[in-house]
Amino acid sequence: MQEKQKINIVWFKNDLRTKDQISLFKASQEDLPFIALYIFDEDFYQKKQFGFRKIGKFRAKFLLESIQNLQHNLAELNIPFLTKFGKIKEIFEKINEHYSIQKIFCEEEFTQEEIDVEKGVSSVLPHVKFEKSYSQFLLEPDFVFERLEKIPALFTTFRNKVEKNFSVRKPLKIEKRKAFFELEIPSDKIDLEKLGFENFETHPHSAFPFSGGENAAWERLHYYFEETQLLKDYKNTRNGLVGSDYSSKFSAWLANGSISAVSIYDEVKKFEQKFGANESTYWLIFELLWRDYFKFIALQHRNEIFHKNGLQPYKNLEFQHNPQKLEQWISGKTHSEFVNANMIELQKTGFMSNRGRQNVASYFCKNLKLDWRIGAAYFEEMLIDYDVHSNYGNWLYLAGIGNDSRDRSFNTEKQAEQYDSDKKFRNLWLKNH
Ligand code: FAD
Repeated sequence: MQEKQKINIVWFKNDLRTKDQISLFKASQEDLPFIALYIFDEDFYQKKQFGFRKIGKFRAKFLLESIQNLQHNLAELNIPFLTKFGKIKEIFEKINEHYSIQKIFCEEEFTQEEIDVEKGVSSVLPHVKFEKSYSQFLLEPDFVFERLEKIPALFTTFRNKVEKNFSVRKPLKIEKRKAFFELEIPSDKIDLEKLGFENFETHPHSAFPFSGGENAAWERLHYYFEETQLLKDYKNTRNGLVGSDYSSKFSAWLANGSISAVSIYDEVKKFEQKFGANESTYWLIFELLWRDYFKFIALQHRNEIFHKNGLQPYKNLEFQHNPQKLEQWISGKTHSEFVNANMIELQKTGFMSNRGRQNVASYFCKNLKLDWRIGAAYFEEMLIDYDVHSNYGNWLYLAGIGNDSRDRSFNTEKQAEQYDSDKKFRNLWLKNH
């Protein structure tokens, strides 16, 4: 019998890019040929929590576009790409029937569901070595933990400590492979319907009218930086509510890894050299540090971020059980017009501004007194930019059971007056939908 060809695999998850892709970079240094792989996990598309799906139509469509673009960019580098739909363990077993898998290169994960999936693969392929890398952070975990024994309870303390001798590595460049490696296994044809959704058009008033994928991420970055220089005024516009340009809109591409935080940092530095640094250019990095902070909190506290009492086990929160109030919040029928407009925006577009998210989450926890985990689960289904660490970290923070346990409550009427004094935003979503 002919011996199976030895190969390595680069298993793509939330690192759907070819620039600054650490697993691709590492696999390229090895002598063995490798294939790139993305699996649409059949089980994931079936799962529900608190009655909500783990992924909704907005993120599913964005993901499909991201995978399509990844296929194109990998082909340009002569890297074969296999996309499959099914049970992850079984797909790895099937690949291993054709090839002899030696190593799997992938990103390092630290939340339970992702770890369980990986353990499943190890159980059927015990001989295979995993080469895992942290690829989601701006700052390297080693750099952070050299300066901090543990992640401080306050973001400001974290920022002050890591900003001293700030070190961000340069983005990695992936070279074109010399020869294309022909795959013996065909990819599956996957569309929205296969993932359990009907096709839909982007809402004409969406603040996020963009496509998924690495190329779209870079197009947006060039637009926001060089082309319009909107970055120069980011600090003053970032609390906006209407249109695409009040903030960077990088979140959805960052969440599935179409662009890395390291690449964005590098581009901010180039922009500063060319056009000058100011408070706004710094502020974008400041926000990326918030993103990192929630990831480090999750890295330290692991599954505690999903617990009812979050990181404050002695607080013992009590919630109301009130399906009617929940339904009113979801469908934008609460007593607050500002909350309603934001919730309708989310329902129609899969996006909501940061200002909106803070208000509706605070209203959910503090006014309606509902279980924050249900609100977080609804966001998980709906948000086009859902990221486990940012979502659960922000919800914990607003429920008062995060790393920083101070009680925060937003007065939504005051906030509406301050940020939507001409009612442009409320009218947009309450009158026109
Ligand atoms: P910009 O203002 O342009 O900021 C630039 C980048 O900084 C963002 O893309 C994001 O990566 C990061 N960032 C900014 N603010 C925050 C923040 N508060 N926490 C973490 N990172 C931040 N962001 C997600 O990416 N995914 C989520 O699932 C998510 N859930 C949230 C849930 C709640 C309850 C709240 C209050 C916030 C949540 N955020 C989440 C953070 C924030 O609202 C979004 O990142 C931001 O609105 C995205 O728009 P932008 O890219 O234009 O942001």
